[in-house]
Amino acid sequence: MADQLCSDLATADLATAEAATAHPAIADAAPAPFLPFALPDIDDAEIEAVVACLRSGWVTTGPATRQFEQDFKHYLGGEVETISVNSATAGLHLALESLGIGPGDEVIVPTLTFTATAEVVRYLGATPVFVDVEARCMNLSVDAVEAAITPRTRAVIPVHYAGLACDMDALLALARRHGLRVVEDAAHAFPTRYKGRLVGTLDSDITVFSFYANKTMTTGEGGMVVTRDAELARRIRLMRLHGISQDAFNRYVSRTPAWYYEVVAAGFKYNLTDIASSIGVQQLRKIDRFWQRREHLARRYHEGLAGLPLQLPPVADTAAGSTHAWHLYVVRLAPEAGVTRDELILQLSQRGIGTSVHFIPLHRQPVWRDACALTPAQFPVAEACFEGILSLPLYTKMRDADQDRVIANLRELLA
Ligand SMILES: *Cc1c(COP(=O)(O)O)cnc(C)c1O
Repeated sequence: MADQLCSDLATADLATAEAATAHPAIADAAPAPFLPFALPDIDDAEIEAVVACLRSGWVTTGPATRQFEQDFKHYLGGEVETISVNSATAGLHLALESLGIGPGDEVIVPTLTFTATAEVVRYLGATPVFVDVEARCMNLSVDAVEAAITPRTRAVIPVHYAGLACDMDALLALARRHGLRVVEDAAHAFPTRYKGRLVGTLDSDITVFSFYANKTMTTGEGGMVVTRDAELARRIRLMRLHGISQDAFNRYVSRTPAWYYEVVAAGFKYNLTDIASSIGVQQLRKIDRFWQRREHLARRYHEGLAGLPLQLPPVADTAAGSTHAWHLYVVRLAPEAGVTRDELILQLSQRGIGTSVHFIPLHRQPVWRDACALTPAQFPVAEACFEGILSLPLYTKMRDADQDRVIANLRELLA
C-alpha cells in the first residue's frame, strides 16, 4: 500500500531492534535500539494458527474466515452482519457501491485522513467533497459538512481520527434531515465506544474497520464491513467475490451440481484469506488487553508530557460512556515551542525515536488539490493542525521504559 503507511512501520529500524534483542552483547555495546513508531503484537498464538491453516490445506476464504466474521460479530454484540474483506479500502469501496453511489454523486469526506477515504469515491466515478475538521478532536466538522451539502450530495464518510469518535449524534441528525447515507471509516476505531455503544453498532448505514499492520489489531492486510441492513450486506457479500450468486447454491442445494454457479454482477476480488483470518481470530481474543495497554500508555504520556509546549490529544468523555481506541497518540506542537514540527521529528529520529504525521491533509496532495481545485485557505483548521502535529510511538509491545525514553527526550528537546 501507500509508502507513508509502510514507512510508518520503519521496517529497517525494526530489523535493528530485533538484532539487538537477539544479541544482548551487541545491545549492551550499541546505543539504545531504534524505537519504532508502531509495531504489530504477534506471538506464538498467531504463528501457530497460521501454521495450522497452512497444514490444513485450506488457505483461501473458508472456515477460519467464517469464524473470524462470527467472532467479530459476537464482539460487537451480535446485532450486526460482519463481512470480512482484504482491506478497509476494499470495504469502503463495497460500502459505497452497495449504496448505489455513482457518477454525478458527491460524497463528503474530511481533509485530515488517509487518501483511501477519498479514493474509493473516485473508484465509483463519484466526486469527493473535502471539508475541514474541528480543532479539538481533528474530526470532521459537522458545520462544515452542512455547508458543503448540495443537491448532488449522497453520502458522508466520517473518520474517527486517532480512535476518538466523531460527534455522531449531530452528524446522523444532519444526515437524516438531508437524506444522506453515512459510511463510517472506522480504520482507527476498534474498539471505540460512543456514548456507551461500540463503533460498528451506531445508527450509520455501514462501518468499515481496518486490520492493516499498524492498526489496533492486524491480519497483515484486512478489513471488516459491518452493517445492520440485510440488503446492503447481501450486496456487499455478492460484490466481494466476483458477483457470484450464492442463491444458485442455496435455493437448489440438493439439485444443483457442485460445479454450477451464476455470475449476476461484475464484482470484485476483495475476499479475506484464511491465512489472514487465522491471525485475526487470535488478535481479536486479545483486543481488550491490547486496548488496556494502549489506554495505560496514553495516560502515561498525558502525565509525562504535561507542562510542555504541546497540546495533548483530547480524551474520551468516559462519564458519557465513550472511550478512545488510542490507535494514535497525536500531539500538537505549540507555535511558541521554539522548534518546528519537522525539526522536532528529525531530532527525535536522531535520538532513535520514530514518529509519524497523520495526516498530510488531502487538500495538499497533488491528485486531490488539482482535481478539485483545492487551496489551503479553504481548510484553515486542518492547516493550523497540520503545522504542529506528530504521532508519538504507541503500540502494545512498547514497554514503560521505552515510553520513558520518548518522554525524557521530548522534555529535553522542548525545555
Ligand atoms: C489505514 C486507513 C485506511 C485504509 O485501511 P486499509 O485496511 O489499509 O485499506 C483507511 N482510512 C484510514 C483513516 C486509515 O487510517
